[in-house]
Amino acid sequence: MSDAKVSEGKGRDFLRQIIDRDLKTEKYGSVITRFPPEPNGYLHIGHAKSICINFGIANDYPKAKCHLRMDDSDPAKENYEYVESIKKDVKWLGFDWGDNLFFASDYFEKLYEYAEFLIKKDKAYVCSLCEEEIRKYRGTVTQSGKHSPYRDRPVEENLDLFRRMKAGEFKDGEHVLRAKIDMSSSNMKMRDPLLYRIRHAEHYRQGDKWCIYPLYDFTHGLSDYIEGVTHSICTLEFENNRELYDWILDECEIKEPRPHQYEFARLNVNYNVVSKRKLLDLVENNYVSGWDDPRMPTLSGMRRRGITPEAVRNFCESVGIAKANSIVDMAQFEHYIRDDLNRKVPRALAVLEPLKIIIENYPEKQEEFIKASYYPHDVPVEGSRDIPFSREIFIDRDDFMENPPKGYYRLCPGGEVRLRHAYIIKCEKVIKDPTGEIKELRCTYDPVTKSGADTSGKKIKGTIHWVSANHAENVEVKLYDRLFNVEFPETIEQGFNKDSLKIISNAYVEPAVAGSAPGSRFQFERLGYFYLDPVEYRQSKAVFNRIVTLRDSWSRAAKQELSPEKKLEKEVLQKPSEKVEFDISELATDIRKKFNRYNQDLEIHREEALTIARDENLSSLFEQTIAIYDNPKVIAGFISTEIARKLKEKAPEKFSVSSKDLAELVKLIDKEVISVKIAKEVLASVLKGQGSPAEIVEKQGLKQINDPAELEPVVERVIFNNPENVAEYKSGKTKLFGFFAGQVMKETNGRANPELLNKLLNKKLS
Ligand code: ATP
Ligand code: MG
Repeated sequence: MSDAKVSEGKGRDFLRQIIDRDLKTEKYGSVITRFPPEPNGYLHIGHAKSICINFGIANDYPKAKCHLRMDDSDPAKENYEYVESIKKDVKWLGFDWGDNLFFASDYFEKLYEYAEFLIKKDKAYVCSLCEEEIRKYRGTVTQSGKHSPYRDRPVEENLDLFRRMKAGEFKDGEHVLRAKIDMSSSNMKMRDPLLYRIRHAEHYRQGDKWCIYPLYDFTHGLSDYIEGVTHSICTLEFENNRELYDWILDECEIKEPRPHQYEFARLNVNYNVVSKRKLLDLVENNYVSGWDDPRMPTLSGMRRRGITPEAVRNFCESVGIAKANSIVDMAQFEHYIRDDLNRKVPRALAVLEPLKIIIENYPEKQEEFIKASYYPHDVPVEGSRDIPFSREIFIDRDDFMENPPKGYYRLCPGGEVRLRHAYIIKCEKVIKDPTGEIKELRCTYDPVTKSGADTSGKKIKGTIHWVSANHAENVEVKLYDRLFNVEFPETIEQGFNKDSLKIISNAYVEPAVAGSAPGSRFQFERLGYFYLDPVEYRQSKAVFNRIVTLRDSWSRAAKQELSPEKKLEKEVLQKPSEKVEFDISELATDIRKKFNRYNQDLEIHREEALTIARDENLSSLFEQTIAIYDNPKVIAGFISTEIARKLKEKAPEKFSVSSKDLAELVKLIDKEVISVKIAKEVLASVLKGQGSPAEIVEKQGLKQINDPAELEPVVERVIFNNPENVAEYKSGKTKLFGFFAGQVMKETNGRANPELLNKLLNKKLS
């Protein structure tokens, strides 16, 4: 993995190492890179990597620049639509070429002059073999090639023919211009490669000014040189072209400092195709709605889907810059998409497949508005909205089951569930239509269970999302899945995922969501991240694209074939609750029971609950300890970390911590005799067999200082010894508070009661 943030030394990728060296030896005064797409299609995720590398380097070095160059020397498939899309996509990704937008086609005149220069040096000749013959003459990897019968044409004849080629005297394919290098070279690219060919075609920028066009190898290095590019970075398949790149610059007598080519590994992603040609196939054969279909791995498709440019950049950075080709798992990309959205987007309620509930004991004309935060606690963004609640609501159809399996915590006949941000409801009756299909549910709600003000003391295991039927807005939702359902599709027909688009025309969102601007993003709780499509935005009905699900259920499901029962159980139980990374339905029954008790009843973190539930020794220690002293959360904290770690190193029978010790330790924290930090040290000593917690605290003098009279002198001493910092603090550098606190902690071996310390420091410093 690369680490672009490391500014020096080994952590840098090989390209930056080369550039560091070249700047240090003053080979170049400053760095110029370029991103050189051919405008014959839209940019895709692979190009994003190249953009991030080239523009990323330019951003990293002082005075460095990155050019955006349209590599447009082939008239056949290029056009302005592509040029504009490329510019838009590069900008969207967050990069800026400034004044440095270039077109290789602007260099046609100069390139032509270089071609004549080579002919005059007898380093290039006009060859009149047909395409087929040229291929035959080239030989194979194991067999050297044969000289073309035209190879020894005199310079004058070559010059004359080449000028007449340019003047349009010949038909396509009649002649070509070739470099005169070495037909027996082990590098096939060096066997008299083609430099120019005749194409009577309209060029989108040059019109019919030219009927001969330079080929990639001839164009590329010279364009780099003309623009002053220093490091010409391309993908690995051009490794063999490097020799030719250098040969052309050599023979054109271009001296150092001049551009050099370096290669890195292409980005390939599974369950997808990363090639403009194949993407064009998808578009032209109507597999997708266009280059910007939200399923496409194009930048325009990703933008349309709602993926953020930050996510794409973070993903590209995570892939790193390597010299060996590899496949990157689509799940890795999805991880970065979620990771970025998770920190940014508001949470809201939506229902995809509505099932109506009538809350019978809620008064008919009543409604209320529940204030709810848009963001969870760990997202440092503020904001809230009012969610309407009323007698009729919708829930998602699969949050109800008539005959639920064990462990089903959502709604079922006679069962209770919490409505997110609202009340606990109980299902009293199931109403069916004549065909037996469930039409609606009749429920009751418990008025004292309102979220945040619940006085019922009820412990409810499931929470589901909902919307108020009379307030919610009807919207269309598009769910996307991977474009291909085989990992490495050979052909489109073979692998295209026909279920990659699912349209839900009858979804509902809470009113605050419906009124948001096109281009807004939300996490619909338990459903995924969604984007209000600005292109399909219609006055009558908003369209939401699902950007990504809340977690990756795909790769696992694809890897293991489950039995039908297991699959059902999984689908039913595995309703996402965002942070769960494991699947509780996969746990053995007794472990699952334990886990549920710890997590649901004792309110212990899922990860901690799982660690303890899974291990016999840990769970029995836990059970015994909470039987002695009732603070399961703190006890679980120690057991799932320090003790679990120790247990990995040591056999359980040699284990010297008892439930009594642990209970004692937690009691010492609760009584404020020691801080949690000190408790960890104490536990370490207990684990080493140095005695009981109370003994150790006593012996090592670890008692927390809770007495102001004892702490005050230490605080005063610290302040007295640091007069400069005090002055700075008083002049406004309040960040120094931490410095003083740290000093006091150091002086007291971490024993100062933090609250008391804060109070005293505040007093003394003001
Ligand atoms: P495709 O194979 O999709 O047709 P290309 O290589 O022909 O792509 P160009 O427009 O020539 O497309 O590419 C512009 C730049 O992007 C080149 O420097 C190329 O090396 C780079 N690039 C293209 N595909 C990838 C990829 N999958 N990973 C990294 N860089 C790529
Ligand atoms: Mg290509």
